[in-house]
Amino acid sequence: MASKNQIHVGNVPIGGGAPVAVQTMTKTETADLEATLAQIRRVAEAGADLVRCAVPREKDVEALKTIVRESPIPVIADIHFNHTLALKALDAGAHCIRINPGNIGGPEKVAEVVAKAHQLGTPIRIGVNSGSLPAHLRDLEYANPVEALVTAAVEMVELMERLEFTNFKVSMKSTSVPNTIASNRLLADRIPYPLHLGVTEAGTKWSGSLKSAVGLGTLLADGIGDTIRISLSTFQAEEEVKVAWEILKALRLRRRGPELIACPTCGRLQFDMDTVVAEVEKRLEAYEDPIQVSVLGCAVNGIGEARHADFGITGAKDMGMIYAKGEPLKKVPTGELVDELFKEIDHYYAAGKTLVRDDARAAEAAQWLAENEDATAMTPERLAALEAEAAERENGAENGVEGQKPEPAVQLDEAVSPVAGRRFTRA
Ligand code: SF4
Repeated sequence: MASKNQIHVGNVPIGGGAPVAVQTMTKTETADLEATLAQIRRVAEAGADLVRCAVPREKDVEALKTIVRESPIPVIADIHFNHTLALKALDAGAHCIRINPGNIGGPEKVAEVVAKAHQLGTPIRIGVNSGSLPAHLRDLEYANPVEALVTAAVEMVELMERLEFTNFKVSMKSTSVPNTIASNRLLADRIPYPLHLGVTEAGTKWSGSLKSAVGLGTLLADGIGDTIRISLSTFQAEEEVKVAWEILKALRLRRRGPELIACPTCGRLQFDMDTVVAEVEKRLEAYEDPIQVSVLGCAVNGIGEARHADFGITGAKDMGMIYAKGEPLKKVPTGELVDELFKEIDHYYAAGKTLVRDDARAAEAAQWLAENEDATAMTPERLAALEAEAAERENGAENGVEGQKPEPAVQLDEAVSPVAGRRFTRA
């Protein structure tokens, strides 16, 4: 269930139908102002809506005043064990503080922090981690770790409600992807407050991104989750932001920057597509518009499934072709495909997003495509299409209406997200 309540961290709405906010955490020593602010600017440029800084010492809370003032995005202070630092972080102007009420020094100290947050109108993120559940839940944790996590979170929520404080979001983190999914599904049913999602200590850029994509992607596709943080073992916080965006873009929850589509390649490939795709992906980072660019390993299928892409390339051993909106644009030597592709993209923007087509070159490209297409080749794409057709026929027969396309159980609209209606796109 989508969260009903909405809070604001600085100017960023969280929950209540707002776009899923992307956040990350600085990896620098917070007191190192120059390094911390430089990293905040990099993550903001990469698309972070919010940034969190660890505040474990007095000197960090001192630096926080300047960081809050100079950061281009709202700053969340991350505090553990020390309620005095939490109070000081609130005074320093943090746009939100993250605390674990279970380790801040008892109910009176929690009440003191909550009273100050209430007075300043500052939201709090309360969170539980699977590794630090309260002692009275240890037996439950052993028997049912998901229920233990949810119980700990609900107890914190009830504590906040007893203090008549509702300006908060909740996180429940586990290193286990199945437990992250199960516990957040349960909690989303039980409370109306916004949820912060993350898989804690997810791992390296490779494994951590995958775990996060599976865990967070599953929840987000169900409409659960209002802000996400991808935890990766890297000092480059902007990498976390890029992964978060890829997850949101894949689910069509938000749009940002170009989308690259590329075939998986097979034995028909005749050029170094690995290098070409990597180069295209890198150069696309300089563009902000959400154009779709496709790279096909061969022209055997024609433009096929890449027909809807704004721009694309397909190559063979010596020659390749650039296409746009499903039509051939020009034929170029394979070694020049990437440069020529970006020339075309730049012409398109320079002409006010209008395709500039040279008819003679387009005809030459169409001729090359006709020579390289092979309608009889059993490519992965055609096999998939044949399998889909066969499955459709089988379903039709099972439903007793031969040849008639059965109604799918779920109508998917590719153009919108599965949780459309609840989300909207933030520019
Ligand atoms: S047949 Fe399909 S998968 Fe194989 S190289 Fe060509 S486009 Fe790529």
